[in-house]
Amino acid sequence: MTEASMVIVGGGKAGARAAVAFRENAWKGRVTLISDEALAPYDRPPLSKAAIMDEAEPQPVYLLDEGMMASLEVNFLRGSAATGIDRDAKTVSLADGTKIPYDRLLIATGAEPRRLSQTGAERALLLRDLADSAEIRRKFIDGKSVAIIGGGFIGLELAASAAKRGCRVTVIEAQPRVLMRGVPPEIATRIAARHAEAGVAILTSASIAQIGLDKILLSDGREIPADIVIAGIGAAPRIKLAEQAGLALDNGIACNTYLQTSDPHIFAVGDCCSFPHPVFGNERLRLEAWRNASDQAIVAVENMLGGQKPYEAVPWFWTDQYELNLQIAGLPQRGVSIVERVPKENALILCHLDGDGRLVGASGIGPGNSIARDIRLLEMLIGKKAAPGPALLADPAFQLKSLLKP
Ligand code: NAP
Repeated sequence: MTEASMVIVGGGKAGARAAVAFRENAWKGRVTLISDEALAPYDRPPLSKAAIMDEAEPQPVYLLDEGMMASLEVNFLRGSAATGIDRDAKTVSLADGTKIPYDRLLIATGAEPRRLSQTGAERALLLRDLADSAEIRRKFIDGKSVAIIGGGFIGLELAASAAKRGCRVTVIEAQPRVLMRGVPPEIATRIAARHAEAGVAILTSASIAQIGLDKILLSDGREIPADIVIAGIGAAPRIKLAEQAGLALDNGIACNTYLQTSDPHIFAVGDCCSFPHPVFGNERLRLEAWRNASDQAIVAVENMLGGQKPYEAVPWFWTDQYELNLQIAGLPQRGVSIVERVPKENALILCHLDGDGRLVGASGIGPGNSIARDIRLLEMLIGKKAAPGPALLADPAFQLKSLLKP
């Protein structure tokens, strides 16, 4: 072991992946992982789905358990909130006053749920960690009325889980439709229809006036029964440490293409940072997505160890609701025209092209794994800045893979 020290703040997906990546890159020095959670890093996607729906009591799906951390010689500081960064001394302070020295620091603090401000807002449950998920699961009892504020990913995944547990569910969304951000209307309509089929009521363009003891009052006077209230109204990047340390901010912690902050010794990854994306004309993006957290951790670690690797992975995310799988690759909102592709019965893929015919996004919905293969290939074509003709994209018999051959 050398004396040099790599420190990671944040024990979520990005922080855990980074700890492993240091050893994969044959780093022999110290690796310290600081997490304000009591548990070892665990996976969050199940928290709104399997952890609530499955009959068996949910167990954390560990990304790094004690055994792995011991074998990787990761110094894991659990239940430790990092409270400050001294950039001159190159130390991170913990709540108990300890100072952890670093040669390179990685901030992977993620995002935190936004809170409602209306009267009664304290009744609204939020979902961020395993304990929140367990509480929601306990409350989703057959026959109870559940009001979910926000028709985004958390809101709709929880609505499907609540319906599966026999609850009477209403989703209250401020926008004119669900999944307004990043999901095209044609896809959002299909998901909304599936919720309706499951008995979930979706109210759009609805605003909350007040949250009562067993109901929600909307501004137009409607009353929504609500034994349980949940808010899934978006998340904000956790930037307090970076802000106090005087790092540049721009919709999160501002990083360059190497995921380096305005301090060359400090890097940031995951939901808390923004970065210029070379595939999309260096537009600055901040992505709240599981795979992005993991991919960024791998690239940032390489660069913390002296590499010069730009981060250029194509954005991708998914959600599962009922039997449906929805996936988005690239930036569909950058497209000016759409080509439909129907890979299998009841499945739909939209290919989003910009003004030059370049593929900039792909979005799809379908049962099981019906869209997975094509979306994966389209994602690779987006990364290659390909401009396949609309006729090829629309033909389900045409093998997209052939476009990737050199
Ligand atoms: P989200 O996807 O941003 O959706 C929140 C929705 O709630 C937006 O449509 C928002 O509208 C609406 N909203 C905001 N304030 C409202 C109000 N007062 N009343 C009614 N509606 C309101 O955020 P989320 O679903 O809360 O998810 C939070 C985080 O969890 C994100 O980081 C998300 O990526 C992550 N997550 C991801 C997945 C997945 O990828 N499958 C699953 C679960 C969670 P505006 O746009 O106008 O604010």
